[in-house]
Amino acid sequence: MKAVVADPLGGPENLKYMDQPTPQPGAGEVLVKIEAIGVNFIDVYFRNGTYKAPETPVKLGSEGAGTVAAAGPDVDLPVGQRVAYAMARGSYAEYALVPRKLLVDLPNNVSFEDAAAVMLQGMTAHYLTRSTFPLKSGQTCLVHAAAGGAGLLIVQLAKIAGATVIGTVSTEEKAQLAREHGADHMILYTQPDFVAEVKRLTGDRGVDVVYDSVGSTTFHKSLDCLRPRGMLVSFGQSSGVVGQFDPLVLSQKGSLFLTRPSLANYVSDPAELRQRASDLFTWLADGRLRLRVHKTYKLADAAQAHRDLEGRKTTGKLLLTP
Ligand code: NDP
Repeated sequence: MKAVVADPLGGPENLKYMDQPTPQPGAGEVLVKIEAIGVNFIDVYFRNGTYKAPETPVKLGSEGAGTVAAAGPDVDLPVGQRVAYAMARGSYAEYALVPRKLLVDLPNNVSFEDAAAVMLQGMTAHYLTRSTFPLKSGQTCLVHAAAGGAGLLIVQLAKIAGATVIGTVSTEEKAQLAREHGADHMILYTQPDFVAEVKRLTGDRGVDVVYDSVGSTTFHKSLDCLRPRGMLVSFGQSSGVVGQFDPLVLSQKGSLFLTRPSLANYVSDPAELRQRASDLFTWLADGRLRLRVHKTYKLADAAQAHRDLEGRKTTGKLLLTP
């Protein structure tokens, strides 16, 4: 089969489109024939070594949709069943091995492309807004990189929950896109003081929660945007890692809460995973959730997709097709 691997670790130029042996499913595993592949920033971290993988060359891609090609001896899933998943590495390929417990059945009214566009970032938006800090009507959240893959989905799920959404982005075009997806107020955080603007918009109170995927350039200012006892959910680092942090700062800035969650810990229970995916498929079907696909690239062009994502050139989702 054809696959894209990182060999060696490093920049996008190290992505190799090559022949690899088609894997065979063992106990608890399913071989999925991939029809659509989701691109995520996590793929960049495995490509450049920020996140460590045990194998060489490193397999890439943590999200996909397709059909069951073969099932392990103890797995009761028919060949041809439509499925989708997130958080199993190796989807940058024509076939991928996926643990059964990470697969969800794909309803007929959800396309492979939509599934590959919603599983990872959509379930992330779901756990951030429903479990990590369950947003309620009347609350206000701040969403950084609000026109990004995770960002546009968090904006929409926060609106479904009835919250007020303040978003940050780098350009006016991205601000407009986030508004079109429901954001109430947009700030260009590339201009000096987004903290003052958040204070102004909240009548000096601060927001209840900040969903921060940007990391290095926003982390400390995000703390200044919170109300007393508010929560900073630091869930990514598209601008670079946050580094050392003294918890005493949380006390000084108003008895704040800080968490650094990962999707893996919010979908480890298969019932919870299915519930999150089912909510997303329902909202897609009834029109409350809209997907924006920035571009669909050929698998062989994965390096260009990475360049565009890292270069802040994209909005919404990037897809690959094998
Ligand atoms: P995005 O689509 O959000 O792309 C990254 C965006 O970050 C850019 O478009 C850009 O938006 C913004 N950004 C700000 N500074 C920089 C910079 N210096 N370089 C590049 N981008 C920058 O990506 P994803 O939605 O895939 O992921 C965002 C982050 O969230 C990643 O760190 C990812 O790993 C993390 N994540 C974490 C999860 C978890 O469970 N913990 C799950 C999913 C994602 P702008 O131009 O508007 O500033």
